[in-house]
Amino acid sequence: MGRFKIVATAAVSGLLGMAVAAALTSYASWSRVVSDEQSLLKIFSERAMKNVENSLGQGRAAISSLAQWDGEFCSPEHVAFMRRITINTRAIEEVRFTGNDTQCNSWGDEVGNNKEPEVDGALGDGFELALRAEPHIQGIDPITLVRRGPYSVIINTSRLSDVILNEQLNLAIFYQNRIVSGLRVQDAVPWADVMSRQRERDDSHVYAVTKRNGWAAVVAEPITALPSSFKQELLRALPTSLIIGLLIAALAAKLFSQRRSPLSELKSAVQQREFVVHYQPIIALNSGECVGAEALVRWIRPDGSMVSPDKFIPLAEDSGLILDITDQVIKGVVDDLEQVLANNRGLHIAINLCAEDIKSGRFIAVIETALHNGLISHEQIWLEATERGFIDIDAAVGSLQKAKALGFHVAIDDFGTGYSSLQHLQRLPIDVLKIDKAFVDTIGTSSASSSVITHIIAMAKTLNLQIVAEGVETEAQANYLKAQGVEYAQGWLYSKALPAKDFVNFLG
Ligand code: C2E
Ligand code: CA
Ligand code: CA
Repeated sequence: MGRFKIVATAAVSGLLGMAVAAALTSYASWSRVVSDEQSLLKIFSERAMKNVENSLGQGRAAISSLAQWDGEFCSPEHVAFMRRITINTRAIEEVRFTGNDTQCNSWGDEVGNNKEPEVDGALGDGFELALRAEPHIQGIDPITLVRRGPYSVIINTSRLSDVILNEQLNLAIFYQNRIVSGLRVQDAVPWADVMSRQRERDDSHVYAVTKRNGWAAVVAEPITALPSSFKQELLRALPTSLIIGLLIAALAAKLFSQRRSPLSELKSAVQQREFVVHYQPIIALNSGECVGAEALVRWIRPDGSMVSPDKFIPLAEDSGLILDITDQVIKGVVDDLEQVLANNRGLHIAINLCAEDIKSGRFIAVIETALHNGLISHEQIWLEATERGFIDIDAAVGSLQKAKALGFHVAIDDFGTGYSSLQHLQRLPIDVLKIDKAFVDTIGTSSASSSVITHIIAMAKTLNLQIVAEGVETEAQANYLKAQGVEYAQGWLYSKALPAKDFVNFLG
């Protein structure tokens, strides 16, 4: 994968990762905001419930104290006693006494024949509760009555929700599913839903409910009151998601670059010495005997598959890795065939040189080292040079002359496919000319280039070069070439390139 692709993929994965991380963290922080807020609301609803219990408790305590009166009922002293208790008890506004024949209240008023309100519930220990009774005194809020025996205490209903509450919050005090008091109860809060479905949040509000003894304190907060803290949470989550995004990008870059480029694969193939040499027999046309072979490199991948040189030689040449491959081929030839060549001096191996080596002459030292024990003689090594190596013709002439002087044979490969001029051909120290398969293919056809092969052959003869025809696939081609005086042929008619062992067997 190319560098740009890796960077782009990593960037996209990073951005995606960041977005997902931001979404997750903001969802998490949103959930946290909501649950934090709910715990806070729970404190308020608990507090409101305590206030209800406290108010009712004060009423009960007052009645217990009143019951201790053993003097005359509704006497001025009795009224004064009731008034004292009213004043000393914060939650209650009035005390009423309803005896069998006398009725009075803490303010000394005649209660008259006001009928007692309906009882809504029992508070235990004989105490009863009447909610929203008609107030005796005009103009005050509906009252809550706590009663036992002849005494009733009046608690202003608003006392039941008398808690300090942030003004964005709503409070409702329920008694047996009926709202009896509250703060901002009229706001659009779906109170009934909350009680019936026990919901702690819906699209519009977050709730907290505290329930005890038939009472419930419900605190509601509109969702719109939350976002200010939500935004802060999101801001706080930002660095985390940024880091997560970067980590994902780095990870993606690493993963994608591990899916390696062809070049890095080829590099590691060179390091791991994954190349072997196959040998394609070269046949003497007049005797039909094998006189040698061309060494053709094969890349055996770790999975056992074989890659043909056409697939990797161009990349190897562009990247300079070809020099290491040449070295491995030379070493391979010596390792594979040293004994065979020592035993058969008439046999040769042709090795392909790359353009860079032809120019620099570097290969000479490599081959000399490989042949150091003298089992293979120099004449047994043919060096194939293609026209691509002749771009710097002076350099090519220099290194090939040096090779020839050492006894190596030099062949010009793929002849006729490049721009090779006859002048070059005359200057180069060549022993052998290899006719490219493209020309051999024209034999027996009426193609215009079919006459070219006769010219090439004639020219080679003039220059005193031996000829190898490449890619011979048919007897007809072989017969034609033989008739034309071509010395050698190489092609599938005889054999494909063989592993060393098979080539040795082929030799017989
Ligand atoms: P080349 O030097 O022209 O090698 C001959 C190619 O023709 C070989 O392909 C061979 O298998 C193929 N060939 C031989 N006879 C026939 C035939 O009858 N029919 C057909 N269709 N093909 C035939 P290969 O082995 O795939 O090599 C391809 C090219 O790779 C070579 O062309 C050569 O340019 C390069 N190469 C191979 N080994 C080396 C090496 O060790 N070093 C360098 N620098 N290049 C190499
Ligand atoms: Ca060749
Ligand atoms: Ca060739």
